[in-house]
Amino acid sequence: DKSLVWFRRDLRAEDHAALYHALKNSRQVVCVFVLDTEILDALPRRDRRVAFILQSLEALDHALAALQPGAGLVVRHGIARDEIPRLAAELGVDAVYCNHDDEPAALARDAQVSQALARQRRAFLSFKDHVVFERSEVLTGQGKPYGVFTPYKNAWLRQLTPFFLSSYPVSRYAAALAPCPARGVPSLASIGFEPLELPPLLSGGSARAESLFQDFLGRMDRYDRQRDFPAVKGPSYLSVHLRFGTVSIRRLAREAWTRAQAGDAGAGVWLSELIWRDFYHQVLHHHPQVVTQAFRPEYDRIEWASGPEAEAHFVAWCEGRTGYPLVDAAMRQLNETGYMHNRLRMVTASFLVKDLGIDWRRGEAYFARQLLDFDLAANNGGWQWAASSGCDAQPYFRIFNPVSQSEKFDPEARFIERYVPELAALPPALRHAPWEAPPLALQAAGVVLGRDYPAPVVRHDEARATTLARYAVVKSRA
Ligand code: FAD
Repeated sequence: DKSLVWFRRDLRAEDHAALYHALKNSRQVVCVFVLDTEILDALPRRDRRVAFILQSLEALDHALAALQPGAGLVVRHGIARDEIPRLAAELGVDAVYCNHDDEPAALARDAQVSQALARQRRAFLSFKDHVVFERSEVLTGQGKPYGVFTPYKNAWLRQLTPFFLSSYPVSRYAAALAPCPARGVPSLASIGFEPLELPPLLSGGSARAESLFQDFLGRMDRYDRQRDFPAVKGPSYLSVHLRFGTVSIRRLAREAWTRAQAGDAGAGVWLSELIWRDFYHQVLHHHPQVVTQAFRPEYDRIEWASGPEAEAHFVAWCEGRTGYPLVDAAMRQLNETGYMHNRLRMVTASFLVKDLGIDWRRGEAYFARQLLDFDLAANNGGWQWAASSGCDAQPYFRIFNPVSQSEKFDPEARFIERYVPELAALPPALRHAPWEAPPLALQAAGVVLGRDYPAPVVRHDEARATTLARYAVVKSRA
């Protein structure tokens, strides 16, 4: 009759599947989060995500106390596989409730926890919460997973009813929240991390997610027209909140779906993005090998660039010093803030793979370290899309031109100006490809390429030809 709710990527007290079921079925419910040293020990000592998590835990602790005086969050620091069964035994609970986390490492961990609990004769119950449709909920007529997005999306929309988007009314059963045995969220320093400030746009907690969403509601109808321009406040900036569950996907999708059904084109396109999220989630579920391999195996025959020049190119890409201003601005945005606009994720990923010829897995790993919203399924999906090796990916012979992308999506070079101030004195039209600027214009702006700003590390037309040759192996038989 006593339960433990184990929070993981669902750091909110509202509309929470596991919390709702635990409260409804138990007399007393204790809530816990484990700062898992198996994950934390591998991270750099300065990590924005850990800061985001601690902020969100603080907010969650307060939200639980607001639901029921005396309630709150227990935070443990240790190996989750051990801590959960240990705490369950200490508290003498009958069951541990949590929400599904379908990343391969999390599934392996949960299987161990479930076994340990079974040995103690305690139940392990987990629920769908993170996506609208998960695992095998949306399949083709032949019962197979979809490999192409549009038919998946159509099936997803056909299957959707208000039921799937209705919220779990946690507060109805809040009386079952037990007094918290040990409240208190540790500081970054006390768990061995450097203190750091998150930019206000990217700080943690459900209230922050809600205010971002309120702000986005006022411009959702323009999303379809504004989302591709990084200098414009077009997208929602909610990805990190979706990643850590400080906002409920049902709440967001419900609003977008209602508006889309009323004919709001912007809402319809935004809903599609949320469906992409479900799509990649189910790709990872059905094809866990994508974590290390190309979804299309023939793409693993490609020989990627290696050696000192490729290493220098990789470092230049990471540091935003490729000499291609939009690529550099984007990488600097990532390094400085932990966020990168979606259009720029496509441009920078394509540049690494198809202009520098570097294995997409290296870019994927770099994004995984830097992105505040890093999500294995979406990041892998995005990288395999850019590398043309994924399901429903960009065809390999379609190669973004980094200069025309810049002219099209940052036409006044305002985004470039923000992150590449070295070029600010150049007229905007010349900032997309400064090596093509007339020498007099460079001189007037006081810019010497190679001194003030890098000369381009590769020539796009040459790189394009090399890439087409490199990718030719995907057509030949193994
Ligand atoms: P909005 O435009 O407001 O979109 C709303 C939400 O829809 C996002 O928060 C996100 O949850 C979801 N979404 C949007 N686009 C996609 C997409 N293509 N795939 C899956 N979900 C999507 N997204 C991540 O959440 N984590 C990642 O690690 C990640 N890595 C990426 C890597 C590459 C190479 C590419 C091309 C895309 C990646 N994306 C990733 C998808 C997308 O770029 C981000 O979700 C988006 O930029 C986040 O900003 P937003 O919340 O303002 O998005």
